[in-house]
Amino acid sequence: MATVSITNLHKSFGRTSNPIRAVDGLSVDIANGEFFVILGPSGAGKTTTLKSVAGLVDIDEGTIDIGGRDVTRVEPYHRNVAMAFESYALYPQKTVRENLASPLKSGRTGQYTESQRAERIHQVTTTLGINHLLDRFPRELSNGQRQRVALGRVLVRPADIYLLDEPLSHLDAKLRAAMRAELKQLGAMSNTTTLYVTHDYQEALALGDRIAVMRKGRLVQIGTPADIWRRPADTFVARALGQPEINLLDGVVDDGRIRLGDGSFDVPIPADAHSDCSRGDRVRVGLRPCDIHVVGPDVDGAGIRGRVVLAERLGRNVELTVDAGGVQLIVLTSGRDGVTEGATVTLTVADSDIHVFAAGDGDTPRLGLPDRASLLEAAQ
Ligand code: ATP
Repeated sequence: MATVSITNLHKSFGRTSNPIRAVDGLSVDIANGEFFVILGPSGAGKTTTLKSVAGLVDIDEGTIDIGGRDVTRVEPYHRNVAMAFESYALYPQKTVRENLASPLKSGRTGQYTESQRAERIHQVTTTLGINHLLDRFPRELSNGQRQRVALGRVLVRPADIYLLDEPLSHLDAKLRAAMRAELKQLGAMSNTTTLYVTHDYQEALALGDRIAVMRKGRLVQIGTPADIWRRPADTFVARALGQPEINLLDGVVDDGRIRLGDGSFDVPIPADAHSDCSRGDRVRVGLRPCDIHVVGPDVDGAGIRGRVVLAERLGRNVELTVDAGGVQLIVLTSGRDGVTEGATVTLTVADSDIHVFAAGDGDTPRLGLPDRASLLEAAQ
């Protein structure tokens, strides 16, 4: 177990005249035993961050500190980290059992007795559901099985820190969900500080004690899953979490409310955005499809009236596209209300589920939050 501190990390690739800034001034402090998730789209700098902690890339600027020791110039082997990549190398001529045993035989882990090795391998293979594969060779495994064996190779090795880069990416959705639960348990059991990289928001929300959202090499938001889900710092984070994506509607502030669409419907200004909303201001309102509720066909009083233009069943849910005041809202329902295409519906959203962002194109910040820099600092 160890803390990890990344301070002002910079890493660029390519020519100095036109560098690719993979990581651009990243600072985070990770606690002892924490399961810390880095979430971001492709190219955000997640893998480069992980490799910097492992010592697999020479960083341009900044420091990496593990367990209170500055390891910025320390060789990977002496950092006592275990890293799993998305694409794994297994020894093709060794069985799964031998592949799993080899990290326990080398270097500082070589002191294990045969029975301790067997016990560790048993614990990890049970968790990963690969007990039945122990006598097979890598060529006799599916991609998903190979990925689990490779993850097993990392987890059998006691280390101060586990660095896991998209370790579940080759698994099908059902197995992924099951493995998520198992990994969470394993994390809690071993209490080893873990940095986990993913572009899958569900994985991040399910696994992370905290999540750092990265974009273009920079930290956008850091917090617990609940913080990030409930108060996304900008429209980028709001759009990154949730499927279908959050609805973003242009609006204008009126007396205590925000008029949306062609102005024929509105929502209240949520308490946290009040201080940043003045009459006449243009804003963007975020409403998650799962937070919009169909309360009936035509209900008097408050609510958003609309007409269902599309109803699509997606597994257990039905996704409705509702035309309201000239804009289209995506609404996720259980489908039990029997709403069909062409129906008139009344929709409601709880005040606490209304997100207000600054107006503009591209990504804009949430209103009512302290400024970004102090928010990131306070979270570390
Ligand atoms: P993904 O989810 O696709 O793995 P990522 O968030 O892990 O993406 P990185 O792999 O850290 O992103 O890459 C960040 C940026 O740095 C990308 O633009 C990538 O093309 C670039 N990059 C990474 N490694 C190298 C390299 N060895 N040489 C040149 N450019 C690189």
